[in-house]
Amino acid sequence: MSDHYHLDTLAIHAGQPPDPATGAIMTPIYQTSTFVQSAPGENKGYEYSRSGNPTRHALEELIAALERGRYGLAFSSGLAATDTIIRLLNPGDHVIVGNDVYGGTYRLFERVYARFGLRFSWVDLSHLDTVRAAFTPQTRMLWLETPTNPLLALADIAALAQAAPEKVIVAVDNTFASPALQQPLTLGADIVMHSSTKYLGGHSDAVGGALALNDENLYQQLKFLQNAVGAVPGPMDCFLVMRGIKTLGIRMERHSANALQIARFLDDHAAVKKVYYPGLESHPQHELARGQMRDFGGMVSFVLESEAAARKMVSRTRLFSLAESLGGVESLIEHPYSMTHASTANSPLAVDPALVRLSVGIEHVDDLLDDLRQALG
Ligand code: PLP
Repeated sequence: MSDHYHLDTLAIHAGQPPDPATGAIMTPIYQTSTFVQSAPGENKGYEYSRSGNPTRHALEELIAALERGRYGLAFSSGLAATDTIIRLLNPGDHVIVGNDVYGGTYRLFERVYARFGLRFSWVDLSHLDTVRAAFTPQTRMLWLETPTNPLLALADIAALAQAAPEKVIVAVDNTFASPALQQPLTLGADIVMHSSTKYLGGHSDAVGGALALNDENLYQQLKFLQNAVGAVPGPMDCFLVMRGIKTLGIRMERHSANALQIARFLDDHAAVKKVYYPGLESHPQHELARGQMRDFGGMVSFVLESEAAARKMVSRTRLFSLAESLGGVESLIEHPYSMTHASTANSPLAVDPALVRLSVGIEHVDDLLDDLRQALG
């Protein structure tokens, strides 16, 4: 679809022309495992749904368009998408990773792939010199998550992509920002990765992952792996993610507006020791956030007096539901130390036991503020 359209238009139309056979305006859910051939090898573009499915194809085109990439690939989860990227590497290869990433990414890298001879360095991405010093002749990949989960730190995508040697693949987990707020390929990244379970899907009703990229050779390798490994999403889930994406732009506006008000409220609250939100002027990378992102997103983390205070608060909210995950229309609260980031315990990535993380939804902000006020007591 034409490059000149804005994201809000692409979100509704890219990859989703009306069905040529029936005129259906919504992409049909091709709930089929296989496709009939008229003679061996003669088909209508599809053979078997692991290799390709029209509903998944529509989602893949849509993701590519949103990220301003040439190619998109969809997976059964965000971790399956990450896993497929890592399979580009060989034993002995070295990967530089930000030292504040989603706990499941840490687990996949250190507990699964380290066993296969990959080496990972966990580095503070906010210091360019530290990152530069971490490159070795074996470094094949730089893995960025920005903003990070759960501390909302930023990585300067353009500067890091520039600093990476030519042979190093720069991959960016864009789950927290979504393409509505930042498009890493336009800043020099090679691959964008998403947990589409989160803001892309936006309604907490599907688990999925996605990749977007421009390089044809890299795409062919990843597409081969997608089929060879087989972690593909079903057509129904692809449909749900596509339907969610149609409202991505306006949802991100409301998530961001609500989160900013909530971050300011928490910042002023006596029971809160520290707030992490890139939209606050006090955030150490606020200026970078203003330049790199269109808005600051819906995730807010904060530190209370103690682990006990954090555990108490997350059990007392009424509108904010205590649950893992994020990016849906409904507000969620969680305790990273014992929930999403439990897998980082006793590692350099371990989180503060007094930390609370919010995924701020799109409810009316006054109701959300009332809920947090009563829960903080
Ligand atoms: N990346 C980030 C930033 C995440 O928050 C998550 C899940 O919480 C993932 C990746 C993994 O995605 P999934 O749960 O869809 O496998």
